[in-house]
Amino acid sequence: MGLADLHIHSIHSFDGTSSIPAILKYTADHTNLDVIAITDHNSMEGVSQAIDLAPSYNLQVIPGCEISSADGHVLGLFLHKRVPAGLSFLQTLQLIGEQGGLAIAAHPEAKGASSLSFENICKACKHPFASQVLVGIEIFNGGLIYAHSNFSAIAQSNKLPLAQIGSSDAHIISMIGQGASYFPGKTIEDLKIALKLRQTYVATYGNYGGYKVIASYLPQFFIRMMGWTAWNDHPNRPIRYRRISQLQPRPENQISRLLHQMIMP
Ligand SMILES: [Zn+2]
Ligand SMILES: [Zn+2]
Repeated sequence: MGLADLHIHSIHSFDGTSSIPAILKYTADHTNLDVIAITDHNSMEGVSQAIDLAPSYNLQVIPGCEISSADGHVLGLFLHKRVPAGLSFLQTLQLIGEQGGLAIAAHPEAKGASSLSFENICKACKHPFASQVLVGIEIFNGGLIYAHSNFSAIAQSNKLPLAQIGSSDAHIISMIGQGASYFPGKTIEDLKIALKLRQTYVATYGNYGGYKVIASYLPQFFIRMMGWTAWNDHPNRPIRYRRISQLQPRPENQISRLLHQMIMP
């Protein structure tokens, strides 16, 4: 069986704290994960770096994004380009499906997070096109402050024709793998088939959730606000902190990157 964490945020999310190399290094050293998905909020800026570096960390990366639909957060996987935020759930699924992607309902009806209702998820499961795209539902999300929301997700998911997914929703590296999904096989292609056949099995390892999330997250968020991020130079070297302003490309300075592209096309 392979093991995947399909919901991880990097510094390319406004609230993420870790660079892509640090995510890969932590995952390789501290988890049994075979596959991860980088799913930043409405951004795919970190995806190409993650895919390029993944083989040197003996990992596989799925290009993904956590899309803020008007009806709640949707995980888009196997994406080639970003899907705009603010569209309805069904429109979002349409755009994910048109590029061959698959979708997972993130933290359904979770308090404290913009989340899809079970009613909307049910509607999508009955929709001719959307039902081909929406393949999974998170029944364990390791990043929820109101962790009991996972229990209603478990109860509701038993009525839905969707793959059951465990994810970390990690915004700090120490949370990676705290929720994960087993699947038959080892590769990204195996996982894609398992999602379509609803053959995933939830694994939860950590004791995160609830206020432990805040206690662990806030110091890392503060470090980011001070202009630093967890970084890794090489798979054989340890994770260190590095100034965000020294990263290429700088995740928070899109204007300077655009200017650079205009000057040096
Ligand atoms: Zn979310
Ligand atoms: Zn998330």
